[in-house]
Amino acid sequence: MSENEKEPPLDEINRQFEKLFGGKHLPFGIPSFIRPDAGVGATQNDGKHDSNSAEQEAILKRIREFNLKPKEIREHLDRYVIRQDEAKKVLSVAVCDHFNHVRDCIEHPERQADEYHKQNILLLGPTGVGKTYLMRTIAKLIGVPFVKADATKFSETGYVGADVEDLIRDLVKAANGNIDLAQYGIVYIDEIDKIANAAGSIGKDVSGRGVQINLLKLMEEADVNQFSPTDIMAQMQAMMGGTKSKGIINTRHILFIVSGAFDKIIDIIRKRLNHQKIGFDASGDSSDDVFGSLLQGAETRDFIEYGFEPEFVGRLPVRVACEPLSADDLALIMTTSEGSILKQYHRDFEGFGIDLEVSVGAIRKIASRAYLQKTGARGILTVLERIFRDFKFELPSTGIRKLSVDEATVESPSTCLEALLRENLHLMADVHREDIERFFQGFFNETGIQVEIDPDGLDAIVARSTASNLSVRSVCEALFKDARHGLAIVMRNTGTTRFTLSCDFVQQPDAVISRMVVESFKSDPARETNP
Ligand code: ADP
Repeated sequence: MSENEKEPPLDEINRQFEKLFGGKHLPFGIPSFIRPDAGVGATQNDGKHDSNSAEQEAILKRIREFNLKPKEIREHLDRYVIRQDEAKKVLSVAVCDHFNHVRDCIEHPERQADEYHKQNILLLGPTGVGKTYLMRTIAKLIGVPFVKADATKFSETGYVGADVEDLIRDLVKAANGNIDLAQYGIVYIDEIDKIANAAGSIGKDVSGRGVQINLLKLMEEADVNQFSPTDIMAQMQAMMGGTKSKGIINTRHILFIVSGAFDKIIDIIRKRLNHQKIGFDASGDSSDDVFGSLLQGAETRDFIEYGFEPEFVGRLPVRVACEPLSADDLALIMTTSEGSILKQYHRDFEGFGIDLEVSVGAIRKIASRAYLQKTGARGILTVLERIFRDFKFELPSTGIRKLSVDEATVESPSTCLEALLRENLHLMADVHREDIERFFQGFFNETGIQVEIDPDGLDAIVARSTASNLSVRSVCEALFKDARHGLAIVMRNTGTTRFTLSCDFVQQPDAVISRMVVESFKSDPARETNP
């Protein structure tokens, strides 16, 4: 489909305008989306984002003054990403080259016309080994906007599924509407292997080729309209909101990274190596190490045989494979990565005043279980969620302040939780008192009525909460839902603002409150009494 065919039908636009303005002429001229190049050179911001424009200007300045060295980028990545040494090295160099070139073009606009092959990157490797994480960490370090999408959601026309240009528009959203900033962003497309189009087999369907062609235009250099030609309302809103944006995003300086598992490419590489009689593991060995080395040796012709257009592969000059992660790597991720999910669990428990401690044996056990999931580091998340699910639900409502996780906890979380709750039963009385006091404080803030409960009443509330499996708070809410009106009447009649309730109130709230109300009508309003 050509560019023009994607423009919104003018009839439809006119209909929408008719609806909105009753056929009157608009106060402003021809809508910019009718002539995509209209307004070029106008100011970039729509005024809505003025508050953070200083911050964005600072980021832009940083990009213009980019001066990081590859080793510095690698060192930063080492803090977060475990292993993937080759990928870190290659990405650090590619990113430095790219942003140095960007800086050069900004400083010396005359050099923009010089031949330059963009360092778009092809990342290979199984799921959950850090491909996205590497790129996200780099984008954060440099301060450029980053968007990620799966290649499978795109279709050639954009009618079914998304249009590849939507990715560029998403980059503008990620840059808070700042087109300048978006033009230096990073676009990451995962599952690129799914749009291969090998002779009738591996690829998704024939539209894979069309998506590749559309993508390669963007990877090279293309102008993309800020508003989707099919999204008429967005265009109108932008105009009515007084957008003065030039509305065109140029993709020349946008860095593209595509990635995929490419598991079937291994057979193609093996076949080629066999054919060349190189003797390099042409056997059927499928261990992680061999898998990694084979992927590392993938060549352009292997990708073409896999189903990629030669021009498409040609736009991805930087290729690097990420290795599968071993159980030991997963343990390292938990203990040493600054972005470790285990750290997040620490913080989550800390939020309830609970100190989480995980033994080395438990880490090892979690790692080996996560490894069996075959989803890379994502397996850690699954295993941790299963272990901690009930602890996270139960512990905040107990007085427990420390959770020690060992191998037995990993093996049987529910048994360990039950034992922990039993051992700490004595703490529950304090917790219940605190919960009830918290409820009474809220009740006072809302109604101005001060309520206390005697020890028998407290025991009765706790007994009801245990029997009904409801929180103490829910039991209180149910008790005081109707009682509040009665207490308000008593307060009005007697001037009493403070009530001490007992066990009989918990057992028969309606009867007790009715009695108090009746009594209050007999009392002298000037006198302060307790019921
Ligand atoms: P993919 O390779 O499929 O793109 P991701 O990078 O999205 O996988 O990994 C998912 C999550 O697992 C990351 O957000 C990160 O928390 C963790 N992770 C994956 N690989 C690593 C690694 N090598 N080092 C540290 N954490 C990792």
